[in-house]
Amino acid sequence: MSTTTQNPTDGSISKFLRWLGSKLPSFDEQADKEQRLALTAKYTNSCLVITMCIICVLLPLWTTLSLTGRGFQISHRIKHHILGRNSFLHKSKLYHNKSFKICLFWFIITAVCSTYDAKRDLLQITKRMGRVAVAMMPPLLFLSLRPSPLPRVLYLSLLPIHKWISRIVVLGSLLHTVFYIIYMHKRNVLWTKIKKLPNIYGIVALILFCLIGISSIRKFRRWNFKLFYGIHYISTWLTVILLYLHARPGIPYYTALNCFILICQIAYRLCITNITTASIINVSPSLTLFEFPLDDIALKPILPSGHVRIQIVENNFLKRWFHKLIPLQHPYTISSLPTDDTVKLIIRNGNFPLKSNSKYYITGAYEPVLNFMKKTKNSETESIIRDPFRINSSQLLHSPLYYAINARRVFIIVGGSAISFGLPLLRILNFNGVNVRLIWVSRDFHDLKLLNYFKNNFEGMEIYITGFKGNEQDIQIDYIDYEHQRNNELCAVNNTENSYLLTEHERTSHENRHFHKCNTTNNLTNLAGIDNSDEIDFTGMFATHKPKSKSDINLSNNARQPLININTNFFRDPVTLGFPQNDSENFHPNEQLDENQDVDMNLKIPSGVKVFFGRPILDDKDYEWCLQRECSLDSEGNVCFDRSINDAEELSNVWVLAAGPDGLVEGTRRWATDVGLRFHGENYAI
Ligand SMILES: Cc1cc2nc3c(=O)[nH]c(=O)nc-3n(C[C@H](O)[C@H](O)[C@H](O)COP(=O)(O)OP(=O)(O)OC[C@H]3O[C@@H](n4cnc5c(N)ncnc54)[C@H](O)[C@@H]3O)c2cc1C
Repeated sequence: MSTTTQNPTDGSISKFLRWLGSKLPSFDEQADKEQRLALTAKYTNSCLVITMCIICVLLPLWTTLSLTGRGFQISHRIKHHILGRNSFLHKSKLYHNKSFKICLFWFIITAVCSTYDAKRDLLQITKRMGRVAVAMMPPLLFLSLRPSPLPRVLYLSLLPIHKWISRIVVLGSLLHTVFYIIYMHKRNVLWTKIKKLPNIYGIVALILFCLIGISSIRKFRRWNFKLFYGIHYISTWLTVILLYLHARPGIPYYTALNCFILICQIAYRLCITNITTASIINVSPSLTLFEFPLDDIALKPILPSGHVRIQIVENNFLKRWFHKLIPLQHPYTISSLPTDDTVKLIIRNGNFPLKSNSKYYITGAYEPVLNFMKKTKNSETESIIRDPFRINSSQLLHSPLYYAINARRVFIIVGGSAISFGLPLLRILNFNGVNVRLIWVSRDFHDLKLLNYFKNNFEGMEIYITGFKGNEQDIQIDYIDYEHQRNNELCAVNNTENSYLLTEHERTSHENRHFHKCNTTNNLTNLAGIDNSDEIDFTGMFATHKPKSKSDINLSNNARQPLININTNFFRDPVTLGFPQNDSENFHPNEQLDENQDVDMNLKIPSGVKVFFGRPILDDKDYEWCLQRECSLDSEGNVCFDRSINDAEELSNVWVLAAGPDGLVEGTRRWATDVGLRFHGENYAI
């Protein structure tokens, strides 16, 4: 006789699996067909209503509330005191991951709408997943409208939500198909059902959804933006039609809503599109100035730093129609003032065709969302006159460049071609008497030539030349964690005044050791100064120090090369620098060089502009500037960050703006939100 002894753990596992099986939804669950249909309709319609309420009501409400002083103070208190740096949440990487938060939020909404009250009926859940995907289509299309009809919301800022909802829709549709296949297979009807035309439409729609999902991955977009856009645009139209043919019961209202949004977008684009003839000026190896008359813009810009979307008018008839069918336009920021007769765009040379005297479609202008400034009507000017913090000269009040500005200080950080965003703002804020600081991080010293094409009023501009040779989109910015800095007071003191006295070798090891911990911004040497006719000769600067490899100058690795030799008198004297040689080798101008362009590399630096070499680091010196307060280091730490002082009121009048490459905008956003400043960012790479 054999006896089998059962392991007690096996018993509890099978018990647990049985319990789990009894809780999980299954196709065996019997449900009334009518009730199943009613519940599916109820929860998918609710999904649409909830989503539209969140997007159209809660989002603008949140923006409006956070713009009020009280709203800012509450949010500041939560972010910086309750969920401050020492909190468990703040240390977690997920807390700072915007994509994760958006994805989680929308996943919960769609998951609840797909499963709530389904009573373990997997067939109902399967149906609901497909219908929820359909219900999310109108909000998805609404989120991609340009400009966004939502008040105080920039359409670009809605793109991450658009992206994540799309991905969830793709996932929902995929699960809907997979579960249906399993269900049909279980009932031995897979081949008869799958051959039915509506199901074939559904499968094609799923394939297109997957294509959209795959092509929208960042790597794909960067590899071939045109292909991404083409797939996206055509697949969107096709899926709207295919879903209409696939869905049972039918979805006429959803389809009508989708078509309405898409057609409105096309009609609006056509209404605000004009044709212009452009003149092209090659400014530097990488930057080109694109000019056309203001009268050619359908919607005249009101605020500074708005943008237009442009496309060349192809001579070839077929190409012209192809562009009409797939309207890929390129957004470029207006770097001239809204009142200038000529619109100037600063364009980073890429694949976009730049041909002088060619015709271009110009769509726009699209206004920026600068929630601290607006154009005043005459009646409003009266009340502003009483504001003690504004300059009230009648000359200013009656100038076309006068704006109502609800900010005392504005700190702008831009990278590469995003100087187009910073320049008009700098000039207008200066003109309106707002304290402004503009940091321009540029890879190439040649780009400074650009300033000669704009009228003066550059007060507060700081240029950092990084020498970084990679893609502009890889320019980043760092900031110093002040908690670390407290522990490195000595380093900060050492580093400020004296580092330019070190030899090159000493400087390399010195900076490499302290790059993350010390305020290197201060030891970068100011090259240009006050005189309007400042001229710096860069002739000898770029020859002596040839980097061994690209990584030598890859500043995004934080291995900042010391670019300044110990040639103490920088002003007007030639400066010998370890800058990459052959900077001009990639310069293949599509047009003749502009006649103003010097070939001898003598750059004229306007007054008010400071030039540094290296990459800036955001730290407490910048915070100090924003607060207009001197920070002192004592044994207790840095008083700038003393939590007993309530800064919220002062901080609510300070804005930090960033534009350009993703890394730079994201780095600045992290810094600004961590120290509790208002932030607005414009990312130049989608
Ligand atoms: C609001 C906004 C303002 C901008 N302002 C300026 C500016 O003033 N000066 C400037 O040089 N650049 C600006 N850009 C970036 C510029 O639009 C793209 O670099 C340009 O469209 C690239 O064209 P390309 O043919 O060389 O692109 P490709 O070589 O085809 O693609 C290179 C990269 O450019 C980006 N890109 C391409 N086409 C588009 C598009 N239609 N929309 C958005 N991104 C695209 C993608 O990230 C892509 O990976 C701005 C972007 C945005 C979103």
